[in-house]
Amino acid sequence: MESQDSNNEKKKEQKDAESVRCVIIGSGPAGYTAAIYAARANLKPVLFEGLQPGGQLTTTTEVENFPGYPEGITGPKMMEQLKMQAERFGADCRWGIATEVDFSTNPHKVIIDEMQVIEADTVIIATGATAKYLGLESEQKYMGSGVSACATCDGFFYKGKDVAVVGGGDSACEEALYLAGLCHKVYMIVRKDYLRASKIMQERVFNHPGIEVLFERNTKELRGEQVVQEVVLIKRKGQPDETEEIIKIDGFFLAIGHSPNSEVFKKFLDTNETGYIKTIPDSSKTSVPGVFACGDVQDSVYRQAVTAAGTGCMAAIDAERYLSEHGI
Ligand code: NDP
Repeated sequence: MESQDSNNEKKKEQKDAESVRCVIIGSGPAGYTAAIYAARANLKPVLFEGLQPGGQLTTTTEVENFPGYPEGITGPKMMEQLKMQAERFGADCRWGIATEVDFSTNPHKVIIDEMQVIEADTVIIATGATAKYLGLESEQKYMGSGVSACATCDGFFYKGKDVAVVGGGDSACEEALYLAGLCHKVYMIVRKDYLRASKIMQERVFNHPGIEVLFERNTKELRGEQVVQEVVLIKRKGQPDETEEIIKIDGFFLAIGHSPNSEVFKKFLDTNETGYIKTIPDSSKTSVPGVFACGDVQDSVYRQAVTAAGTGCMAAIDAERYLSEHGI
């Protein structure tokens, strides 16, 4: 038999819990678009902005490839406008991080900041992914002033210039090939003596006259006045013939992988081998009914603001249909 204390505890939890029809976790283009659609469908969504309100786009400068902005727009401004648009239709956007979830119950539980319990009939996960960085001090210093983790977003600003891409996987090859179409010269900085990328990507890189692959190089630091002007590399680090070299560049692109922000959900949802949440094809449905995923947390391939927004719309529509199918 349960003790009076534990009953009281349960009652307290019940009292403290807030019931919502739709909770959205994350505030990039996927989360805000889901909020716009969910609010317009009268789901009264509550959106928690997460660790980095606005998401990855708030770390970029100009966004020129999102349809509808002929003059371009800054990442932070675009996120501000998306938020305003969601709030205009009644979305409740709040500060807070989902620190724990329990998808074994119905409604699902989402714990915010380790204390606030949200009981939600539907959950939309839009927590995005985080680009990996080398962890150098100088990398932080030149963030947005020569350092970028997205060639498709920022490559245009380096038209006709010399740039470097760090990494030896498919992403690095793809970024290098994209940049080679714009830049004067692209260096690929690869720490091993081979590329990890698929053969076909390797061939494309090796056959491109504008790309030079520098094997066995580690990045020591970036230098420059205000903006990046050169990178210091260590060749054959730890070997007897280790040397240092300096290369003049204007842009430094990281392509050493992304980590999906799915840690909190992994216990309940199917993820792939690299942690991306699996969704049922042609939908945003996860392995748990009533839980939907959109944006970069479920997309290791496209990772664009516009594709994230598109899947955010899908998630809201899927949530709305789930609620009406279940008569909630
Ligand atoms: P990967 O993990 O495949 O490659 C990461 C690369 O970065 C490796 O070369 C790795 O070096 C290097 N790296 C990691 N950490 C450091 C570091 N601290 N310093 C220097 N170099 C570092 O990531 P990707 O993003 O390239 O790819 C992820 C997945 O997505 C893969 O399965 C890939 O095939 C897929 N993908 C497919 C594409 C396509 O088919 N068009 C396009 C993009 C990605 P090392 O090899 O030494 O570990």
